[in-house]
Amino acid sequence: ASQVSSKVKSNSAWYSASSFSSSVPAVKLFIDGKFVESKIGTWVSIATNEVIGRVPQATKAEMDAAIASCKRAFPAWADTSVLSRQQVLLRYQQLIKENLKEIAKLITLEQGKTLADAEGDVFRGLQVVEHACSVTSLMMGETMPSITKDMDLYSYRLPLGVCAGIAPFNFPAMIPLWMFPMAMVCGNTFLMKPSERVPGATMLLAKLLQDSGAPDGTLNIIHGQHEAVNFICDHPDIKAISFVGSNQAGEYIFERGSRHGKRVQANMGAKNHGVVMPDANKENTLNQLVGAAFGAAGQRCMALSTAVLVGEAKKWLPELVERAKNLRVNAGDQPGADLGPLITPQAKERVCNLIDSGTKEGASILLDGRKIKVKGYENGNFVGPTIISNVKPNMTCYKEEIFGPVLVVLETETLDEAIQIVNNNPYGNGTAIFTTNGATARKYAHLVDVGQVGVNVPIPVPLPMFSFTGSRSSFRGDTNFYGKQGIQFYTQLKTITSQWKEEDATLSSPAVAMPT
Ligand code: NAD
Repeated sequence: ASQVSSKVKSNSAWYSASSFSSSVPAVKLFIDGKFVESKIGTWVSIATNEVIGRVPQATKAEMDAAIASCKRAFPAWADTSVLSRQQVLLRYQQLIKENLKEIAKLITLEQGKTLADAEGDVFRGLQVVEHACSVTSLMMGETMPSITKDMDLYSYRLPLGVCAGIAPFNFPAMIPLWMFPMAMVCGNTFLMKPSERVPGATMLLAKLLQDSGAPDGTLNIIHGQHEAVNFICDHPDIKAISFVGSNQAGEYIFERGSRHGKRVQANMGAKNHGVVMPDANKENTLNQLVGAAFGAAGQRCMALSTAVLVGEAKKWLPELVERAKNLRVNAGDQPGADLGPLITPQAKERVCNLIDSGTKEGASILLDGRKIKVKGYENGNFVGPTIISNVKPNMTCYKEEIFGPVLVVLETETLDEAIQIVNNNPYGNGTAIFTTNGATARKYAHLVDVGQVGVNVPIPVPLPMFSFTGSRSSFRGDTNFYGKQGIQFYTQLKTITSQWKEEDATLSSPAVAMPT
């Protein structure tokens, strides 16, 4: 434990070595350009195997100070030329690249995912920062000259003011990077609340943003749980909220934030189906299914957690099990690890209970990861790859998002039946079809009611020039994250109608009727 703690303490800018008579390092807040210790005495532990850090629940006074700082910084930042804001982001993407491995190590330490996967987490966030550097074209308004004599019409995209972000634990770098860089490049200031389970990556990202030249107060960071969330939903100075996380929290935040007149975008839970046609490339498909179901221990909103085997493809099940069995479960920083632990003991218990429910409701457990022990990490929240077959749509393990390394398998005779199953499921985050037939792929892509579809691509997360377009129960709001939609979310339009007449065309009497 002391060895791990010393790794955390070396990041002393945002960790206080010991406080409140505990030797476990405590993460700081980031207020008005300074990393400051919280005055609070209630903490959340960071621990996928042993406690390595503590996260404070910020006090009301600290949250007020953070918002006041965002509000103070807004006018000057909004007035900073768009080229200067772009320059900050250009330096930022370079610093993220240079520190990518450092950020990834922090993610693995706090969150448990493998180092290779953590590097992917940073990389996919970095791509959004790179995209934000295109602000000079993305933020352009529209013009229409000569709408009548001597009159022109044009619009500006302008920042909203103070925006806020509430992030989940599973992508400690990528998801905060979906939020504050896009908001800030548009001229907004930002209050970030990272997940209380994994604050480290956000803190390092804040330090790098400061080093890139973002003025004090443009980004503030608070920590906490419900009180911090309520504070964000209710505060009159916050104009927009970006949320990513579970449905329980997302529906609540969408409703409470909207009630207070804010824009809210909420990306939420999922149950992503991979439909396997018997004509698919078997080798590729099985490898893709196993990677997408069990990578990151299934703790991805785009994890392919449900397989629908169509017709003869059901005969591939034993081979699927063999491949999943060969995956190595270990601490994320151990060489060769394919999947690490779950985020908390409670998460492990929940996943095991959902596997139990499968047995009770008549499904078959073909591969059971509940009893796994990992040498040297006996306290870790590990669950091994688990495959449940003979699953029916009315079973609990099918209806609930499991968010663990568990693949549930359904079987159908036809593609039409498979489409019906997917469309009857309330979630619409992602889906994939595996086939070598173009017409089958096209039919699926057109008929399936899911916002992100992969054709022989198991995790179809769009690159940032597009937007993340999960649908139905996986999303609330009307403007998506990143891409053109991300810019729309963080800006408001001002439209200007302007007339410049020649002197001799001056009105001779009042125009009292509507112009036609
Ligand atoms: P979570 O909802 O528990 O936590 C997310 C954030 O909300 C945290 O900052 C947390 O402090 C806060 N929070 C938690 N419970 C709350 C409550 N009852 N009221 C108010 N605030 C609350 O989610 P998580 O466990 O950190 O993340 C996993 C979930 O996120 C999964 O459901 C996953 O599918 C989803 N997710 C979705 C996407 C997407 O883009 N659709 C991406 C990543 C994760």
